[in-house]
Order: sequence, then C-alpha cells, then structure tokens
Amino acid sequence: MPAFPKPIQLSHLLIGQIVHTADIVVDATLGNGHDALFLARLIGEKGVVYGFDVQEEAIQSSTELMQKNAINNKNYRFLHAGHEKMSSHVNGEVSVIMFNLGYLPSADKSVITTEATTLIALEQALHLLKVEGLVSIMCYPGHDGGDKEADAVRKWCSELARESYRVVEYGLLNAPNNPPFLILIEKTK
Ligand code: SAH
Repeated sequence: MPAFPKPIQLSHLLIGQIVHTADIVVDATLGNGHDALFLARLIGEKGVVYGFDVQEEAIQSSTELMQKNAINNKNYRFLHAGHEKMSSHVNGEVSVIMFNLGYLPSADKSVITTEATTLIALEQALHLLKVEGLVSIMCYPGHDGGDKEADAVRKWCSELARESYRVVEYGLLNAPNNPPFLILIEKTK
C-alpha cells in the first residue's frame, strides 16, 4: 500500500473506525453498490443501510451485489429516489452518510449528480447525522458539470459552523485534469 491511500480508501478507513454493529447508515448515491456493500459488512445483522439512486439500473446492480455477497435483505433498503428525498425515507439517527458524486461509469454518463439536489441532500444528511457521525463526499471535478458541483459542495462545506462540525479535504494535488477529492464532515455537537 502506498504511503497515501486513495481518497475513497481513506474514507473507508475512517468510516471503518466509527461504525458499530446495529448502526443505521446511508449510501446516498448507490451506483454499483460498492459503498453499500462496504457499509453492510460493518453494520452486521442488526443494522440497516439505506441506499438511494435515480437510476433503476443502479438499484438492480446494487441489489445483485448484496445478494451475491449473502447480505440479508432486512439489512438494506434501496430506494429508487433522489437523495434530496432522504429525510422522508430514513428514520432514526445515522452514523455515516456516503456520497459518491458524478456519473455511473458503466451507465448513461449524462445522468450526473448536480449541486442543486446534492446540497439539499447534504443539508438533510447533517440533520440525520448523530454526534460523532461522518458524512463522506467523493467529488469529481473532472467532467463537465462536475467542476461546478465540486466547487459548490466545497464552498457549502467550508461555511459550516465551526462549533458543530469539523470539515477536512483530501486529494492528490500534483495530478492533471482535476482529480477526484474527498470531503469529510464530522458532527461534533
Ligand atoms: N463517480 C463515481 C461513481 C458515482 S455513481 C465513480 O467514478 O466511481 C453516482 C450515482 O449517483 C449514479 O448512479 C447516479 O444515477 C446517481 N445519482 C444522480 N443523481 C442522483 C440523486 N439526485 N439522488 C441519488 N442518486 C443520484
């Protein structure tokens, strides 16, 4: 392993340290379901992973991934809905909410997350989050529209109240074409 993990690996490393069995967690952008599977393994038999995606294809491939890995279907609830509706579907206090923005590489690349709905979802995520919980956001400024979204997300996160949140950013600086970067928000009170 190189000295610096990739942004998504760092996210998994830190999330792995704070999630407990029986937690409620959210994958706000299911895509192919890799983050949902990672979360399902952490929460065990009593926890629940809520998953959101606007593409039916993503719901299907994520469900298949869970089945292939023998995750019990009472431990995940995947919704064919935008993450901006998160608060009307998720009940209880949540320890982690993961966003992996952009488009699904294997599908229609014109379906991208955009700042209008991403920021609404982030606002809801912070309300659902319990103290000491984390929101993890993988930003992809390298595609058309992704740059605008990444700027908006970065600005929004940088303006969060210092008394209640700690926000960090992590990514490779010396790489071409606006490489992906990670933002993590910890709720401190
Ligand atoms: N860029 C990542 C993959 C991101 S997948 C990578 O390269 O690995 C992003 C997912 O977000 C897609 O499956 C897309 O359908 C979904 N999405 C787009 N808008 C959304 C919304 N409003 N709510 C929930 N999911 C959304």
